[in-house]
Amino acid sequence: MKSVLLAFGLFLFPFILFAQTDLTKPEQTEQWEPEPRVVKPGNGPKPPSDAVVIFDGTSLDGFRDKNGNPPKWELKEGLLTVKGGSGDIWTKASFGSFQLHIEWRTPIESLNLKGQGRGNSGIFLQDRYEVQILNSYENRTYANGQAGSIYKQTPPLVNAMNPMGEWQTYDIIYTAPTFRANGSMLTPPYVTVIHNGVVVQNHTEIQGTTEYIGPPLIKAHGEAPLRLQDHGNPISFRNIWIRPL
Ligand code: MG
Repeated sequence: MKSVLLAFGLFLFPFILFAQTDLTKPEQTEQWEPEPRVVKPGNGPKPPSDAVVIFDGTSLDGFRDKNGNPPKWELKEGLLTVKGGSGDIWTKASFGSFQLHIEWRTPIESLNLKGQGRGNSGIFLQDRYEVQILNSYENRTYANGQAGSIYKQTPPLVNAMNPMGEWQTYDIIYTAPTFRANGSMLTPPYVTVIHNGVVVQNHTEIQGTTEYIGPPLIKAHGEAPLRLQDHGNPISFRNIWIRPL
């Protein structure tokens, strides 16, 4: 039996060698199928043609509060603004991996609000992993809690804040984690964050939930909504869209 296998192996060897080395024509390394589908790119506030629009300034229909009711946040002049004390809000839709575009503005506040108290909100990816929103323009706080941080985990590479009262953009590319049947993590979530066109997180591994106190926690989950944080400050949002990946 062994000798038969050996003979068969020896017989195949030149073919394997041939297959690996005989890439001499340009066509042999061309991939034609499947053809990537066509997407019309966005233009300014207009999202790409295949984006799921979460908020375009006209209604809060994309969101719910924690009880599934319409959120009490303010919709005024095309902006969605946190109503302090009314609680976080969630997208009605759930997502796995995605590309997210979101624009936010911290209000012009009195300068006696400092650190984490000045313009705090946040975007919880899959309801668990917070990309911090904060007025980090000339406002020092712990680095892994400033704008663009993965909260209490990873500081942003740089501080790309526009001044207080100006609009900020986040473009976030997120890879959802995978879990084994026993609930342990097989592959962690990863995130890239571009703040005002500047990379502040580059394929950063997310270590688990972003806890205020204590280490990150790992708990298996599937698709989940996006959550926006009510931290008591009247942060405004506009042009929120997602492309599931
Ligand atoms: Mg926050």
